[in-house]
Amino acid sequence: MGKLYQGATGDWEAVIGLEIHAQVISESKLFSGAATKFGAEPNTQVSFVCSAQPGMLPVINDECVRQAVRTGLAMGCQINLRSVFDRKNYFYADLPQGYQISQFKDPIVGEGILTVELDDGSTKDIGVERLHLEQDAGKSMHDQHPTMTYVDLNRSGVALMEIVSKPDMRTPEEAAAYFKKIRSLVRYAGTCDGNMDQGSMRADVNVSVRRPGEELGTRTETKNVNSIRYVMQVVESEIRRQIDVIEDGGVIDQETRLFEVATGTTRTMRSKEEAHDYRYFPDPDLLPLEFSHEFVDKLAKEMPELADAKKARFIADLHITPYNAGVLVAEKESADYFEELLAATVEKSAKPVSELGTLVSNWVTGDLFGALKKLGVGITDSPVSISHAAELLCLQLDGTISGRIAKEVFESMLDSRKSPEEIVEEKGLKQVSDTGEIEAMIDEILAANADKVEEYRGGKDKLYGFFVGQVMKKTGGKANPQVVNQLLRPKLDG
Ligand code: ADP
Ligand code: MG
Repeated sequence: MGKLYQGATGDWEAVIGLEIHAQVISESKLFSGAATKFGAEPNTQVSFVCSAQPGMLPVINDECVRQAVRTGLAMGCQINLRSVFDRKNYFYADLPQGYQISQFKDPIVGEGILTVELDDGSTKDIGVERLHLEQDAGKSMHDQHPTMTYVDLNRSGVALMEIVSKPDMRTPEEAAAYFKKIRSLVRYAGTCDGNMDQGSMRADVNVSVRRPGEELGTRTETKNVNSIRYVMQVVESEIRRQIDVIEDGGVIDQETRLFEVATGTTRTMRSKEEAHDYRYFPDPDLLPLEFSHEFVDKLAKEMPELADAKKARFIADLHITPYNAGVLVAEKESADYFEELLAATVEKSAKPVSELGTLVSNWVTGDLFGALKKLGVGITDSPVSISHAAELLCLQLDGTISGRIAKEVFESMLDSRKSPEEIVEEKGLKQVSDTGEIEAMIDEILAANADKVEEYRGGKDKLYGFFVGQVMKKTGGKANPQVVNQLLRPKLDG
């Protein structure tokens, strides 16, 4: 039994299903050669097909088809060797064809199961119902003119994958974990960039409540939710609202709702009575898609390593803590940065990779992520290049600087963008490991503090730290601590 929600009349269980729209990474649209670049001037990426000129015929873009299959493989879902494109008929100003080409009865990808990890470390299996290919509509722009609505058809015909879950989620956290999992899979597979603020990924959020163990309740569907936090807010607020409505003696209408960012709640968009009858039928302009096993097998063989496999490899081969490995693979860019930095550090230091995993992963997840967070930038905008980072770690590895000084050098790297070697040189930060030099210093210090030496020898062990501190003070923190220990102990004890 999953989590229950308390109402005035007893416990309730929530049921959540997500329909995720993910824009396919592809140079051109699903059925035309028009470009798909984000942020282009309105109506500059529109072909006769995307604007539905009479007599124009759709031609399937085989890269979009491959992307959908790759996504299905990444999710571990069944790939359907035969699928069909259908027309979904409705009228809207930004839909010049009067129908959307989608897939209805026979989608390109079928069922599968995703295992998601929750914050408390537990896992949960969530069913995927299907993934189908469809074209996006254009965009109505209501804010460009006081009395008119403008239409931008740049998005018209762009390939989308709609990924439909089973109603298997029970909490906002599970919905968020499922969304994150899909975002990670498509980003690692290179099939969708996952940029939610650019609309590349958005979810329709279906929520219902029921008494534990009863049949499914009536659901509402909140459209176009474009961040993981908003998905959680939609689920949370719908659960509360529906419990209140039912406990007050009302019923839930099966309706479409809209999320309002300002209040973090949803409001009615249209009721079931206003729902469309899409009159689906197979598009006569397009043949069914048929694949051979060889086609699917080849794509499967060419799949890149995905987050879960990468995490397992980091733990097994590089001996990185599961926590750090999880942090690194959460975003593909961080995993890439880490792997490139590790390779560069191996090359520069000539040490075996197995010895460097922990150092490099600690540095990336600790020092670097900490600094990036303070600067408010992502890893792709890191002010510290891979080669400078490798140089810094190698200076530490070969004993040129101590771990403490490395942190100081890193601070200067962030400010000046200079190379760590340059900074160490300029500021004279090289660690003093010269035994002769340190020994002379120790002698001086012991001579100048004869009283404390007596106390130490008389049993006041704690004073040891005082002498180490004096050496560090004299060298500005640059004395190699190991060398200091090696020389100081015998002199004091002797
Ligand atoms: P439609 O095609 O009409 O949108 P589907 O049956 O395909 O309806 O379901 C769409 C989404 O709603 C799926 O993600 C599904 O898991 C979810 N869903 C279906 N029934 C419920 C329910 N009673 N409560 C919550 N989610 C549901
Ligand atoms: Mg739906």
